[in-house]
Amino acid sequence: MTKYIFVTGGVLSGVGKGISAASIGAVLQAKGLKVSIQKCDPYLNVDAGLLNPAEHGECFVTVDGAETDLDLGHYERFLDLELTQKNATLSGRLLQKVIADERAGKFEGKTVQLVPHLTGAIQDAIAEAAEGSDVHIVEIGGTVGDYEGLSFVEAIREFAGRVGRENCLYVHVVYVPFISTSKEFKSKPAQNALMDLRGFGIVPDCVIVRTDTPAPDSIARKISQFSGVSEECVIQLSNADTVYEVPITIANSGINKVISQFVGNNKQPNLSKWKKLVSAQSSKYKKVVRVGLVAKYVDNEDTYISVIEALKASGWQEKVDVEIQWINAETAKDSDFKAVDALLVPGGFGGRGVPGKIAAATYALKNKVPYLGLCLGLQVAVIAAARRAGLKDANSTEFDPGTDNNVVYIMDGQQGLESTGGTLRLGNYVAVLTEKTKTAKAYGTTVVNERHRHRYEVNQNFTSAIEKGGLRISGTSPDGKLVEFVEAIDHPFMIGTQAHPELKSRPHSPHPLFAGLVRAAKR
Ligand code: GLN
Repeated sequence: MTKYIFVTGGVLSGVGKGISAASIGAVLQAKGLKVSIQKCDPYLNVDAGLLNPAEHGECFVTVDGAETDLDLGHYERFLDLELTQKNATLSGRLLQKVIADERAGKFEGKTVQLVPHLTGAIQDAIAEAAEGSDVHIVEIGGTVGDYEGLSFVEAIREFAGRVGRENCLYVHVVYVPFISTSKEFKSKPAQNALMDLRGFGIVPDCVIVRTDTPAPDSIARKISQFSGVSEECVIQLSNADTVYEVPITIANSGINKVISQFVGNNKQPNLSKWKKLVSAQSSKYKKVVRVGLVAKYVDNEDTYISVIEALKASGWQEKVDVEIQWINAETAKDSDFKAVDALLVPGGFGGRGVPGKIAAATYALKNKVPYLGLCLGLQVAVIAAARRAGLKDANSTEFDPGTDNNVVYIMDGQQGLESTGGTLRLGNYVAVLTEKTKTAKAYGTTVVNERHRHRYEVNQNFTSAIEKGGLRISGTSPDGKLVEFVEAIDHPFMIGTQAHPELKSRPHSPHPLFAGLVRAAKR
């Protein structure tokens, strides 16, 4: 019988509910249990693909091509799982299904309502995502009390009726602010948040109290008193130096006892891999490697979170201190590129900042600076090479629809759909790498499978111009039709991939292309 852990939030969102959920999962995994995890997002979007990354952070793509919230990235990194659409449940998607079922006459004349029809669909989605695991963790996005989230809160309450209350553990994550003028922690908003949750019929089994700095025990006592949750089940988690410390903190806290009892497994979690990671991360390395991230959104780290995590993990593996230097693509100049040891151009959509990204690729080609291009980062490298070969107006039709030298162009059948949802090449695609190339060497194999999220492709009518400009194709789709990888000829390390390898990188095992970039920069 699968056990279910529901993680909800109160007071504020964005205080680490996702990290808490993933870390609880990591501790359960470290006890040898099979863990699955799911994010329920109350917003009405059908997927996270069209959300503004500056506001919402990175769009994380799963192996089966679901465009999801960045929390799925945390889950994959913490739990080393490959998740799918099943693990990302959105209101919009479920409403669409309920309405389609109504149109198809599946409700046999009944009045279709949020309760029980939408709440039923939510519960079905939870049960489906949980299949085959010992423990299934469900994180509800937003905070309890938000209009959009009510159906989810009701659904997880009803779920206890479906599987038995003893098989459900409710964890509420609340925030306790510190008021600097009076120098005290204030538990009132947390008390209210717990009251809200009770108002929806859920008495939590465990409360995680998030604070910026460690709070006195009296805070937990007070929250316990007002919520009816026993004091040992009210656990304080103050900000950690690194998120990868949280599984260790959780294992050493009262939560360990609560979840151990709940799952009926008293084995001590084996945390050696987390300890190793935290010590690698806190080591002071003599060598510093500066990687210039040539990006459009320079004021929100969340937009490139998987890229940043992949770079950091590469530093831990290569025993260097990776310093990320943000280079604003809209103002980038050669002096910015000169100031770093390596350049990375991440994915992106739309023309803003593209000239700066092309300049970065041109600089890397010319000056043999290590370069990694991710998706758009490959496309700008191809444009840079073609221009170096003399095709001055070489471009992607995304940025110059009228150019004759459309070295990057739109896939067949996709014309006219450029700004709509669901028309991208998404998810895992196999690529075959050319033997003895730098790309194949970095991977240590010639067949790879990487996740995609893009619409434009390299135009192979321009292969010779691109080569003349210094780049060769180093990997394609198995039928040869789509260019998947390019690399610079006679260059220490310059690789572009049409995919998003950052999504597959793990803190314990960084992706080989990122590790390759950092290694090249180190030299
Ligand atoms: N805008 C480009 C395309 O659609 C690149 C997308 C990306 O970098 N993910 O092909």
